Amino acid sequence: HKYVYDFSEGNKDLKDLLGGKGANLAEMTNLGLPVPPGFTITTEACKAYLATGSEPPGLADQIAAHLAALEAEMGRRLGDPDDPLLVSVRSGAKFSMPGMMETVLNVGLNDRSVIGLARQADGNDRFAWDSYRRLIQMFGKTVCEVPGEEFEHALDEAKRAKGTTDDLDLNADDLRGLVDAYKKIFNKHTGREFPQEPREQLDLAIRAVFESWNADRAVLYRRQERIPADLGTAVNVVAMVFGNLGADSGTGVAFTRDPGSGAQGIYGDYLANAQGEDVVAGIRNTVPLQELERLDKRSYDELLGIMARLEEHYRDLCDIEFTIERGKLWMLQTRVGKRTAAAAFVIAGQLVDEGLIDLDEALHRVNGAQLAQLMFPRFQLDHEFEPVAKGIGASPGAASGKVVFTSARAVELAAEGEPVILVRRETNPDDLNGMIAARGILTSRGGKTSHAAVVARGMGKTCVSGADEIDVNVPQKRFTVGGHTVREGDLVSIDGTTGKVYLGEVPVSPSEVVQYFEGSLDPEQTDDALVRAVHRIMTHADSRRRLAVRTNADTGADAARARRFGAEGIGLCRTEHMFLGDRRELVERLILARTDGERESALAALLPLQRADFVEIFEEMNGLPVTVRLIDPPLHEFLPPLEQLAVNVAVAQERGQDVAQEEALLDAVRRMHEQNPMLGLRGVRLGLVIPGLFAMQVRAIVEAAVDCARRGVVARPEIMVPLVGAVQELETVRAEAEKIIAEVVGDSGVEVLIGTMIEVPRAALTAGQIAEAAQFFSFGTNDLTQMGWGFSRDDVEGAFFWRYLELGIFGISPFESIDREGVGRLVRIAAEEGRAARPELKLGVCGEHGGDPESVHFFHEVGLDYVSCSPFRVPVARLEAGRASV
Ligand code: ADP
Ligand code: MG
Ligand code: MG
Repeated sequence: HKYVYDFSEGNKDLKDLLGGKGANLAEMTNLGLPVPPGFTITTEACKAYLATGSEPPGLADQIAAHLAALEAEMGRRLGDPDDPLLVSVRSGAKFSMPGMMETVLNVGLNDRSVIGLARQADGNDRFAWDSYRRLIQMFGKTVCEVPGEEFEHALDEAKRAKGTTDDLDLNADDLRGLVDAYKKIFNKHTGREFPQEPREQLDLAIRAVFESWNADRAVLYRRQERIPADLGTAVNVVAMVFGNLGADSGTGVAFTRDPGSGAQGIYGDYLANAQGEDVVAGIRNTVPLQELERLDKRSYDELLGIMARLEEHYRDLCDIEFTIERGKLWMLQTRVGKRTAAAAFVIAGQLVDEGLIDLDEALHRVNGAQLAQLMFPRFQLDHEFEPVAKGIGASPGAASGKVVFTSARAVELAAEGEPVILVRRETNPDDLNGMIAARGILTSRGGKTSHAAVVARGMGKTCVSGADEIDVNVPQKRFTVGGHTVREGDLVSIDGTTGKVYLGEVPVSPSEVVQYFEGSLDPEQTDDALVRAVHRIMTHADSRRRLAVRTNADTGADAARARRFGAEGIGLCRTEHMFLGDRRELVERLILARTDGERESALAALLPLQRADFVEIFEEMNGLPVTVRLIDPPLHEFLPPLEQLAVNVAVAQERGQDVAQEEALLDAVRRMHEQNPMLGLRGVRLGLVIPGLFAMQVRAIVEAAVDCARRGVVARPEIMVPLVGAVQELETVRAEAEKIIAEVVGDSGVEVLIGTMIEVPRAALTAGQIAEAAQFFSFGTNDLTQMGWGFSRDDVEGAFFWRYLELGIFGISPFESIDREGVGRLVRIAAEEGRAARPELKLGVCGEHGGDPESVHFFHEVGLDYVSCSPFRVPVARLEAGRASV
């Protein structure tokens, strides 16, 4: 079995076998670029080692053979006392992973070869001892788990003794002394001497790389990122080149374009007389890469040539690591580089212009999560605003408002129209109403998976969590931070992307990308490269996608905005908000009605109000379909809370007032109390139990449509029955609705569809029967997830999802992204069996998942006709639907 590949034997497509680093080192070698020679030990060797606890048979021999070839090529032997070959041992999995062992440089140095190295470097003792102390440090830390601080400490000590803060002021003697100190540290922690045998150093380092695949942090990271646990890591053994040989040597990192903005140019950092990670470690100040032109023009020109070549070859932004050894350039790493969301769009557009990729490929180079990021409003920051604290950017966005410390106060102030920021040590389910009312949430404790973070993300609300400099005192209604005291009502601003917290109100502006979607920024006129790129890529996504994109909107204003964002109809218009505000009283009358007459008069009063709402929406969506869901939540949600009512009644009685009305209400609330309201009297069940309720709604919808038609507005209502579990439920509602439709539509030409939500698992499993009575299905994936998993969304997210995420039971909440195997399977079954029964059945989805990138791809695969999501998510869904199609 072949476990070891020379760099000349691999290529960039062998990442599974050679890891990312090894595959790209091989690719560069074969491009003829100056890569120090070396070889890669495969992920298969790693897997075999991990399975049995020892190196697989043949591996040691293959390493020996490749090492011998490397020695022959370099004309040096590993660790030779006179003229040593040194190597680096570098881990490199398919995906780079925090928690795995990184790199050991200068393997092959020992008490004797350090002298030979100095001689080979023209008597540069300093260089040799610096290299040796680095080996002991890296080997000790990564191979033998010696605490890194101890080495750092000894190094600081040596510098202090010398009265300097710069490594370069340490001379050969100082460094020799440091080597002794390091060896003592090594011995103290491992109980053995630092290994002097070069091949033993090499073997131990290789083993440590293998074993680091199962380090706790690596395991956890893989679980959370859903990286398979059985990939293993490769190990690269690379001949050392030295950037620490003097002023004509150095090391650097570079990007082929600006990873921040995507702009073309030269982006990188260089550090003379340095090795390995010194550039990023921030020990000394790096210089901008352009400086290299002055320091070493030949290497600089060669580097620029190589960077251009790599971009053309990889057809993408690359990042690189390089080292210059006495005026000779060496390439040590490249990969397709990470970039910001803005850069991703700009670069994709540029590469199309440059003819390196086509527009389909450009769609693969960006994603909906990046687009969503570009749509958040931003703070207009100037020097006036300095952050007072920094927490975790738990849910992105920019929010300013008055500080409140309780959920109740948040609700009160928000009802007065004040923007509020809810500040808590941490949140719990009691804070839910306050979180809904607030513009943003700030907590002093908890991370990305805390209650506040999870719930805020679910609501799309700005949240900074774990800002631990903030000391929150709820009883006294104030918090302190860095000498400031902030009281209830004071203004603060929080940035949910960066985690920064500001005092006062930082002005917020919509992003350019939103201005473009809103239509206030013309992509043909602007010189904003990002907007032009977004426009171009969105246009292509629209031309490619098969899924239509609708929006969830309950008001004319939402509908209008969504339409500007590209929505092609309304997939979910909830009618329950139409029962709130000053209409509550009418709803109370409906619920309290003791006679048919009382009930009918309450319904008659609601009818014109509902009709007016629908007219507004139909007008905004002129010509586009509008799916209206009949009332869904339990009726007691429209009544005052029990405790409050009880108090009112008691107080009124005390004062000797007439309380008949309140008592009746109280009775009704008691009567309607449910243990599990989400599984109780709601949805279609309400319609079947309360005579005339659905009929009133159907009448309001159809009358509104007819009214529009008379004025030349094309209304296309689709009436949607919620929470159906059995076809008989739907048939009953349908029979009544059809009568009303026939009566109201007359010769107006209005066409009305009747369909149902598929959100109860039983409905999904009997979809073939239900399709007989439904002209469309809309998957309510929120409830389907809730009932499919048996999770009460309002209760579980804050209660234990953090633990599930931590344990890797799921990598993302199933309410955020559809659970393909379970809930997704219900969708698939219902789609197939529904279509089998009624081929022209329209299929859509209206849960939160409709705007989630991963889920959009799933709905595309399952063959739905459209997804529907909140207005702000419409562009994201358009983009992802396009990406799913290419
Ligand atoms: P990481 O994955 O953390 O970037 P690397 O394996 O790339 O780890 O190595 C860390 C540092 O050591 C990098 O700066 C790299 O350029 C440098 N390095 C690795 N191998 C060699 C080598 N053979 N000669 C000189 N420098 C090297
Ligand atoms: Mg690297
Ligand atoms: Mg539902």
